[in-house]
Amino acid sequence: MANSLKAAQEQLIVLRKAYAQQIPSRVAQMKEVWKDLLESWDQENLDTLHRMTHTLAGSGATFGFEVLSDTANTLELFLRAIISNGYPPTVEQQTQINALLDSLQEASGDLHPSAYVYQLVEQTFVKHPLISTMDERLILLVDEDVFQAQTLALQISYFGYTVEILQHWTEIQAAVLRKPPSAIIMDIVFADGNLAGTEMITTIQRLRDRPIPILFMSERDDLGARLQAARAGGEAYLIKPIDVGYLVDKLDRLTTHQPAEPYRILIVEDDSALAAYYALILQRVGMIAVVVSDPLQIMQPLSEFKPDLILMDVYMPGCNGLELAAVIRQQEAYVGIPIMFLSMETNLDKQMVAMSLGGDDFLTKPIQPDHLLSAVTTRVQRSRILHSFMVRDSLTGLFNHTKTKEQLTVEVRRAQRQNTNLAFAMLDIDHFKSINDNYGHLTGDRVIKNLARLLQQRLRKTDFIGRFGGEEFAVILTDTDGPTALKVLDGIRQGFEQVRHQYEGVEFSVTFSCGIATFPTYLEAIKLNDAADKALYTAKHAGRNQVVLARECC
Ligand code: GH3
Ligand code: MG
Ligand code: MG
Ligand code: MG
Repeated sequence: MANSLKAAQEQLIVLRKAYAQQIPSRVAQMKEVWKDLLESWDQENLDTLHRMTHTLAGSGATFGFEVLSDTANTLELFLRAIISNGYPPTVEQQTQINALLDSLQEASGDLHPSAYVYQLVEQTFVKHPLISTMDERLILLVDEDVFQAQTLALQISYFGYTVEILQHWTEIQAAVLRKPPSAIIMDIVFADGNLAGTEMITTIQRLRDRPIPILFMSERDDLGARLQAARAGGEAYLIKPIDVGYLVDKLDRLTTHQPAEPYRILIVEDDSALAAYYALILQRVGMIAVVVSDPLQIMQPLSEFKPDLILMDVYMPGCNGLELAAVIRQQEAYVGIPIMFLSMETNLDKQMVAMSLGGDDFLTKPIQPDHLLSAVTTRVQRSRILHSFMVRDSLTGLFNHTKTKEQLTVEVRRAQRQNTNLAFAMLDIDHFKSINDNYGHLTGDRVIKNLARLLQQRLRKTDFIGRFGGEEFAVILTDTDGPTALKVLDGIRQGFEQVRHQYEGVEFSVTFSCGIATFPTYLEAIKLNDAADKALYTAKHAGRNQVVLARECC
């Protein structure tokens, strides 16, 4: 905890330095725009200058540069007045603006942060409740090339992982003893050209009761290296340059023992220092933050990152936050994502307009870390509860029909991309009507719940279980081929058959039938669904209580 706090403060110092360094050139740019404006009056340039001033006021205050922020604030008021007048400034106004720009320049050369910001960060991190449940998800990254390692570490850290870089495989054992990581990513061909690192891994794993997932990366794509990696128990073999999306996907799958999914926050903010500051605050309490600095690039992260919440700056070049919120709300898939505006805007009317365009909240810059965290936490909690009503079945807590079908499409796409197998199974309880008739509807419900629980116990965390309808279930087994799926589901079938259900002292057993179809035998979600359905029908007609794998190609 103390370390994590110290690390956060060190990161904050780095961020603040980076921010301070770019201020003189930003102010110089503002002066340029102002000079151009005086030569030829132009609405677009005026808007640009206003936006730059506004941004400076907000970010300056956030980083504790009060003089800079106050001066920018005053300038912003002047510019706003001129914009609403609709006339070029009077000579007197010009003089005042010149003076303010000069003061800004002066302030930017001599930035003195107040200690206040650090105190706030400290207080927030010490008292925030999420901290205690934070799972650090530590990753050891072993690579001789420090620059390459740091670049990769930074990318991975955006997804909520803490990365420790080791330069040589000989350091692994000590690091694992110090603190066992959630996974190890390791380059297997070192300068000395041998594969001794993989042998070290084998030794380490032998000493542990639960092996640490290992992902190997290499420039080499030859069978010898791959074989060595596989023998050392490598969960993945990644060829450089590393596809970070793929790597993180693998890491997520290998390290998902977390009780709750970390909150995923998308930050849309053109000021990169400010964005990094928000990201730092959120990440330190275990949330995952992804930053989009160009508002026009939001669509891809929106669909791929699937944020729980969007933190949206208002003033940005190209498209403002309000317009962007309206665009996001036009799309049905994103109607439920909370959008929180971050702005210097204190005008209540304008805030109301922002809300009517689809925003859920309005945070005024400078935003205090604990305020940001509590606002984000409350919103995400609420939206997750609402979301679970939409995607979960109330009787079993499993995913509902709609969500299951959507997920099948997503998983098929993933399997295509990653060139892996996938199995889709449909289960239907046998003669369920007679259970209802003999023992009543409530007993029937209990049987349904029992099967749901059995599926949850028997399948892996990475598998997806849905209730498809009444007494029908659907299961998506990732990275699983036909014969394996058949074995797994037949095991569950045998297990279920053994379960003794009760009704007023009477014991009875129930069976189910199951049909399975696999990717890539069937290439599309809808075909998998049809084929699994037909296989289920076959199982029913062949006498029930059996599992059938669809083998025919299409
Ligand atoms: P088969 O072996 O051919 O599947 O026979 P079956 O009796 O299971 O046939 P069918 O699928 O037609 O019947 C399903 C029955 O499940 C019909 C419906 O009354 C009952 N059912 C549907 N949803 C629920 C539920 O939520 N709870 C209970 N108790 N029964 C349900
Ligand atoms: Mg901005
Ligand atoms: Mg049925
Ligand atoms: Mg049935």
